[in-house]
Amino acid sequence: MKTVFFDIDTQIDFLYPAGALYVPGAERIIPAVAELNRHAPLVISTVCAHSEDDPEFKLYPHHCVVSTTGQSKPAATLLEKSDAARQVILEKQELDCFSNPRLAPLLEELGAERAVVYGVVTEICVRFAAFGLLKRGLRVEVVTDAIQALDDDAARKMFSEFQAAGGHLTTMSAALAGRS
Ligand SMILES: [Zn+2]
Repeated sequence: MKTVFFDIDTQIDFLYPAGALYVPGAERIIPAVAELNRHAPLVISTVCAHSEDDPEFKLYPHHCVVSTTGQSKPAATLLEKSDAARQVILEKQELDCFSNPRLAPLLEELGAERAVVYGVVTEICVRFAAFGLLKRGLRVEVVTDAIQALDDDAARKMFSEFQAAGGHLTTMSAALAGRS
């Protein structure tokens, strides 16, 4: 099955306590994200790339403004130069990664059938990615030990709705072994 990994918004502003929109505990998933990215056949790394006055800032505090350190990805989540062809950085200004018009045609072109999804935030941008991929007919697996929620109740609700919609929950090792 043609598999694409989705590394959602693993950016400094979300992952570290000093970040502009820190997701408590998120730094713990960095090693798992790094491992998944390294072993991905192809990884689409979505990144918030905001201007100073983006509409999203009416909902959330300032974060991931283009050309700030907080907007960048930790080095561990980036592939080495020699592997860079396996990583697509997909910028977005909205919560839903499908708001970038490049994504849907890219998935078509790749013939993607299976998506392995992880990153932050479980009940927000990971949720948009997971449901958007389900809607496009892919088999979708969310890696429960490589995501972080802001609100655990909202995350549990997301899991049950996602499974009811045909999605799968998996772990990093099962996803890498292709046996989720
Ligand atoms: Zn954002």
